[in-house]
Amino acid sequence: MDAIVIGSGPNGLAAAIVLAEAGWSVVVHEAQATYGGGARSAELTLPGFTHDLCSAVHPLALASPFFRALPLAQHGLKWIQPPAALAHPLDDGSAILLERSVEKTCAHLGEDATAYKKLFGPVIKNWQTLIPNFLGPPRVPSHPFQMLAFGLRALGSARKIAEKYFRGPRARALFAGLAAHSMLPLEYSLSSGFGLVLGAAGHAVGWPIPEGGAQKIAGALAGHLKSLGGKILTGRRVDSLDELPAARAIVCDVTPRQLMSIAGTRLPAAFHRRLARYRYGMGVFKIDWALSAPIPWKNEACGRAGTVHIGGTLEEISFSERAAWEGRSCDKPFVLLAQPSLFDSTRAPAGKHTVWAYCHVPHGSSEDMTEKIENQIERFAPGFRARVLFRKIHSPADMERHNANLVGGDINGGAATLGQFFFRPTAKLYSTPAKGLYLCSASTPPGGGVHGMCGYFAARKVLRDLR
Ligand SMILES: Cc1cc2nc3c(=O)[nH]c(=O)nc-3n(C[C@H](O)[C@H](O)[C@H](O)COP(=O)(O)OP(=O)(O)OC[C@H]3O[C@@H](n4cnc5c(N)ncnc54)[C@H](O)[C@@H]3O)c2cc1C
Repeated sequence: MDAIVIGSGPNGLAAAIVLAEAGWSVVVHEAQATYGGGARSAELTLPGFTHDLCSAVHPLALASPFFRALPLAQHGLKWIQPPAALAHPLDDGSAILLERSVEKTCAHLGEDATAYKKLFGPVIKNWQTLIPNFLGPPRVPSHPFQMLAFGLRALGSARKIAEKYFRGPRARALFAGLAAHSMLPLEYSLSSGFGLVLGAAGHAVGWPIPEGGAQKIAGALAGHLKSLGGKILTGRRVDSLDELPAARAIVCDVTPRQLMSIAGTRLPAAFHRRLARYRYGMGVFKIDWALSAPIPWKNEACGRAGTVHIGGTLEEISFSERAAWEGRSCDKPFVLLAQPSLFDSTRAPAGKHTVWAYCHVPHGSSEDMTEKIENQIERFAPGFRARVLFRKIHSPADMERHNANLVGGDINGGAATLGQFFFRPTAKLYSTPAKGLYLCSASTPPGGGVHGMCGYFAARKVLRDLR
């Protein structure tokens, strides 16, 4: 056997594909009964309702240089672009929409339309050259001046950038919601970078959903891997490297904590100590609903968007994110909501709907956030609760039970702080001191999201080292 991959998330499958394309024999061992890790779907509520267990909306998958080069459409992946990427309702009854068109988006921003173009314009214009740098390990950028200009804005805190560029609450709120995907307090360095990339992605590639659910992404990756001769074994949790047959390389789609446990004494004590210092981030509390009808948004335009950011103003979102980071409870959490069945009829029986939403909570929190999340939705969609046929809640502990990589509910494989964004989990990135043992999960650059780039770069490193 040439390579064993532990874990079948998008990064594990990506690593397996790169190795199989190089002619290596590859077997993927997956702990769960189904493959796909953070890109899986299932009937979580009622028969006929398909829900995404983890990822739901996929700008990074469509932007991924690696995924773009694969024949995923041939293996059943079909993207759906909702008419608008994102809606952000406000208490005055209005809603800001992030549309594919910059002009149409600016029409929602009043006095800040010009500032929005000034902030996002260069990122959208240089998207093709910036994205490979953003979705890759630290290296000398291919276009240093463009990258420098981007870096000066991206490295800052979202709050500082929003308050510097925008005068009104609307553009500030939009940027705060985008930046909150960083799962960092909005006053932290780098939170701005997430806002810039996700906002620009809305214009450059859209925020698509896969027809049939996120499992179709994993299915297409698995289909391609199998066509190259690769194998996936499900229900095979690896607790120790000693359980595995001999292989030239073992590539782990796991986080540092599991790597320490699986590798044991094959890793020197000093490396264990470094991995033990790796910081996991805040967790998520997620709910999936089956609804009898679409969400009754006060502002009907929210029904044009695949994703809805529920959290009001920059100040409110910033308060909620800081509370989760600092281990405090928050009565009005920032809620990220997706409503895929409005655009994909395969997700629910005719006339019925699926909704997916989560809020950020303190790492490992055991607080039941159901009421607080639903109150937030009711605030902008009175009558929502009356349409609920079934709800399935997932606490951070539930999340970790169905995917060991979601440590304490952290969905990004570790906090994306300045110190851990570029060099994660250690300065060795994908390598370890043990010969033939590699890491390829979201705990390596470029971090969380369904894009497969961690797996791609890890496998390239394997090939360079062992060819
Ligand atoms: C609730 C939620 C919402 C999200 N929303 C989005 C979104 O909308 N868009 C987006 O792009 N990203 C989203 N993400 C993030 C995205 O899902 C992850 O960043 C991505 O899946 C990471 O891929 P990965 O391959 O590194 O790890 P994972 O996808 O987590 O896969 C790891 C795999 O390894 C397996 N495994 C772990 N330990 C072992 C072991 N010892 N033996 C065998 N197998 C093992 C696990 O079972 C799992 O299948 C979301 C995540 C969550 C949880």
